[in-house]
Amino acid sequence: MSLIDAHLHLQDSRLAPELEGIVAQMRESGISRWMVNGTSPDDWSEVAAIAAANPQATAGYGLHPWKVNGHGMAGVEKLESFLVEDPGAFVGEIGLDKWIRDHDIDLQKACFLRQIEIANLHGRSTAIHCLQSWGHLQECLREVPPSKPFLLHSFGGPREMIGDFLEQGAYFSISGYFFRPDKTGKLSVFDDIPMDRILLETDAPDMLPPDNMVKVALGDGVNHPVNLVRVYEAYAAHISRPIDWVIDQMAENFGNWYQAKARSIADERSAIE
Ligand SMILES: [Zn+2]
Repeated sequence: MSLIDAHLHLQDSRLAPELEGIVAQMRESGISRWMVNGTSPDDWSEVAAIAAANPQATAGYGLHPWKVNGHGMAGVEKLESFLVEDPGAFVGEIGLDKWIRDHDIDLQKACFLRQIEIANLHGRSTAIHCLQSWGHLQECLREVPPSKPFLLHSFGGPREMIGDFLEQGAYFSISGYFFRPDKTGKLSVFDDIPMDRILLETDAPDMLPPDNMVKVALGDGVNHPVNLVRVYEAYAAHISRPIDWVIDQMAENFGNWYQAKARSIADERSAIE
């Protein structure tokens, strides 16, 4: 088995204290690749440390829309230095969110656009969060089109926008949360997306799946990364395909989305000078 978690946050304080045990459990469960998303300059060093210590982990650096108010554009300043240090890193988690209270969508857009520009400059794939801001996201992607494929993680957008996103190079990931009985409408949207553009994720420690999909419980609504096994099984059942087919298809899709190591560190350095 070789499962890929396209989106999670191992550096989160709800997982970090248990990290050694969690990593061992992930290994035992056949989870061979983890895309660890940073959320602000406050956790990028922890993400870098996790990636350095675990060959299965790939680091993502990005200013999450929930952290935009606290950091502003200054939060994006150090992004390039982290990318230069790690030619394998992607840019994420970045995005737009009008669901949170006190959101400043103009500041979010400015930070998002700058981060797409930086991702383009360094030839990196991106991982994007979007809640209740789909029109704004479409506007931004037209203004600064990502040069590499991008992942719309835990995609909960409208069905009618899928065509445009596909043309722009989007991949769409499904978390266990979408298999909750009250989320069947959201899950059915994925039936309109070609299977070669889908990825699977936990978003651990968030997006807890329904009880029957919890393989390992951590308590207090915390989603354990090992629950990815159940996401693979549930998706295979949903599309009526064997699990081995899903594993192979996800590996292929992952390779097509994640395209980071295009250039050497020397090229990276000259790009920002
Ligand atoms: Zn996330």
